[in-house]
Amino acid sequence: MNATSDIFAIPLEDEAYLVYAPLHGVAFAAKKGLVAALSEVVSGEGGDESVVALAREAILLGQPRLPITQKRGSPSPTEVTLFLTTACNLRCTYCYASAGDSPATYMTMDVAKRGIDFVIGNARREGAPFAGVNYHGGGEPSVHWNLMTESLAYARKRAGDLKVIAAAAGNGVFTDRQIDWMIANLNGGMSLSFDGLPEAHDKHRPTIRGTGSSDRVMHTMSRFTDAGYHYAVRVTVTAEQIPLLPDSIEFILSRFTPMRVQVEPAYQLGRHEGRADAETEEFITAYREAQSRAARFGHELVYSAARVGTLTNHFCGVTQDNFCLSPSGNVSACFEAFSEENPFADVFFYGSPGPGGYTFDMDALDRLRGLGVEHRPFCNGCFAKWNCAGDCYHKSLATNGRGEFAGSQRCHITRELVKDQLLTRIAESGGLIWRDGQERKPCAIHGGKNE
Ligand code: SF4
Ligand code: SF4
Repeated sequence: MNATSDIFAIPLEDEAYLVYAPLHGVAFAAKKGLVAALSEVVSGEGGDESVVALAREAILLGQPRLPITQKRGSPSPTEVTLFLTTACNLRCTYCYASAGDSPATYMTMDVAKRGIDFVIGNARREGAPFAGVNYHGGGEPSVHWNLMTESLAYARKRAGDLKVIAAAAGNGVFTDRQIDWMIANLNGGMSLSFDGLPEAHDKHRPTIRGTGSSDRVMHTMSRFTDAGYHYAVRVTVTAEQIPLLPDSIEFILSRFTPMRVQVEPAYQLGRHEGRADAETEEFITAYREAQSRAARFGHELVYSAARVGTLTNHFCGVTQDNFCLSPSGNVSACFEAFSEENPFADVFFYGSPGPGGYTFDMDALDRLRGLGVEHRPFCNGCFAKWNCAGDCYHKSLATNGRGEFAGSQRCHITRELVKDQLLTRIAESGGLIWRDGQERKPCAIHGGKNE
């Protein structure tokens, strides 16, 4: 039942409801009769004094502001993401990029320098507190090691007094020398892919020689843990490994100290296309059990689209001028569209090297900027709308094609997990009412692909 356009009554059990008003920043449980009475009060049809008082206390009256932002004008990014290479030292069975299946491409120092110069110039002009340099996707960035280290040294030299924050996403199969460098230089942290129990990890994340990679990744995590380094772990779950998820989470949290653990069902893309679907009811059940184990270690698991505490019209940076460079130096907004060969490159690529840095295709960029959730009719009326913000745009293209977004099985997972987060927060707030303190922020690096 949707009491008003932004106050939702979500059925629980025994005629109880979870009342959620995301834009008013409150949630509480209520019986059916109270929901009906509240509905009358908030729609201005009058009502019992005590219900009016409750509505006032819960701040349900009045018109909240919509959390909508949209960039305009020529893009002026202060962070660059470098897709250093499509080469990889692993052959993961679910790799969205099918890395290693086609000839590898490598970025040159000139391409990296141009991007770095551009964002440092923008950061200086705009008085930004720092310039960002990120290493990501398509392959394993650390495989193009010389460029990774030399480009960051260049950025720091070039930035002078301006702070540079550097981060990377990688597969965790690094040498000790590389680990030393990461701890010393990647001050924005590292996101590692690790699937938990060694048998779960090794089945899907073999090295190029076909041997398991869990020993190597655990060595990296131990080194990071010992150094007190800031790192996150991404767990990808295939259909047959759903039952292992709770033990995998316990395995990770009892041995290592990641700041954050993200869990995503494997997407049926790249090498995983056509494989068994993991976006199922079983996933939700296993995730709930995994979450209760994580809570014993003081952790709340992360699922990219369930973000109670965050109100936004953007799922990721695709709608916010994400500035990512392919190995050839062209500008993409999407971590998945790391190459001009991507089937949706025409949607996500919006610039190329040009005078003064880059020439931007403003029509393409404005189309991306206009992909905010407020423009998705299917998401209207969804109680998770301003938390999820429409989910991954690349995935919706891959599943729905280029037509109107028509939802996916992830919508059900997202809503169930948003509901769980709300109930947890109500319980933690004393059991009566939860008020939003905007405590969690979305991941700056990525929304959640199989990596
Ligand atoms: S979340 Fe989806 S749309 Fe956004 S950058 Fe990642 S793959 Fe692209
Ligand atoms: S309809 Fe689906 S994609 Fe849209 S906001 Fe709701 S859960 Fe997210």
